[in-house]
Amino acid sequence: MSTKTIQNLQIDQDRLWDSLMEMAKIGATDKGGCARLALTDLDKQGRDLFVQWCKDAGCSITVDRMGNIFARRPGRNNDLPPVVTGSHLDTQPTGGKFDGVFGVLAGLEVIRTLNDYKFETEAPIEVSVWTNEEGSRFAPAMIASGVFGGVFTEEYGHSRADLDGKTIGEELKRIGYFGDAPVGGRPFKAFFEAHIEQGPILEAEQKTIGVVQGIQGIKWFEVTLTGQDCHAGTTPMNRRKDAMLAAARMVDLVNRIALDHLPGVGTVGLMTVHPNSRNVIPGKVFFTVDLRHPYDEELEKMKAALEAGAAEICGGLGVECDLQEIWNSPAIHYDPACIDAVRRAADEAGLPNRDIVSGAGHDAGYIARVAPVGMIFVPCAEGISHNEIESALPEDLAAGCNVLMRAMVELAA
Ligand SMILES: [Zn+2]
Repeated sequence: MSTKTIQNLQIDQDRLWDSLMEMAKIGATDKGGCARLALTDLDKQGRDLFVQWCKDAGCSITVDRMGNIFARRPGRNNDLPPVVTGSHLDTQPTGGKFDGVFGVLAGLEVIRTLNDYKFETEAPIEVSVWTNEEGSRFAPAMIASGVFGGVFTEEYGHSRADLDGKTIGEELKRIGYFGDAPVGGRPFKAFFEAHIEQGPILEAEQKTIGVVQGIQGIKWFEVTLTGQDCHAGTTPMNRRKDAMLAAARMVDLVNRIALDHLPGVGTVGLMTVHPNSRNVIPGKVFFTVDLRHPYDEELEKMKAALEAGAAEICGGLGVECDLQEIWNSPAIHYDPACIDAVRRAADEAGLPNRDIVSGAGHDAGYIARVAPVGMIFVPCAEGISHNEIESALPEDLAAGCNVLMRAMVELAA
């Protein structure tokens, strides 16, 4: 078939939706969500169902030593590296029906549609399932795409244990997904991940497609402020070294820094106060700061503003400040050609779209270390995710799947 007929390809919205609802029965919760934690019996059932569907669609299956699954639809030239899409089937304990699962089943729907149209691609097409994306049962998150991307070793991946001491390696063997294939070293022509946005922007702006540019950089800080515990009644205001007052001003500082560096975000989410007594001026406060920005240079400026602001606030109050950067995850920028393919696919399908940066981590972020990557976001209701009420419209999911198909077919042509 010529590439002209790409325009005629349409995925089957009802089949995609029915598959999502069928998968959601495995680990279904009372409140309409899903609890399918990584490498549990339920995860095995979900994997088995996916593998069966892929075999029914004529795919061959490869499982690697981290339990990542690759379902392959052959191309005309099977010496070419495949164009791959995928996401994850595991969920949070009170997770939804779409986070991750949409990206996996959208890939399957692309293959089913190409089969319907007897549409051949030059390069093979693959759908991948990445093990333990959520990081709920086994930390850290995205462990298996991380091993694939060379961020973690296989030994490290296998040795991660849950709270009962069961390791990923043991649990992969137990459920029959400790595969033979090496992890990584599997060239991809391109990798796409379709995902619900997990944020409110697309819905608020009535855009159907988010053309994802990358994942924002993250810095975590730990701050300890030391003043002096003192009697709340007898210590005059001008004699205090109030660590809590300094902390309060720094919470406001973090907020102002984010507003000065939009679309950056800043959060103080954890605080402990010592001695935490109603009639004692707090002598010690510990808190965390989470700063994020799509560009590392801007994130560095936010850090500098935090350090300068902290020195000024604490100096004025006679409070000592210990501020440590404990984690830095640099911004990830996706491949320009993959980004363009997604935008073109959305434009050609007449779908309202906008460029967007992911606020959350995704498997695609680690895959971007070893392959050209693009991502497609679709709206979810009120931006809510990691929650049983997570919800998305069948037509938006279908639109995202059509964009995925067009982008993949263009690159596999
Ligand atoms: Zn996800």
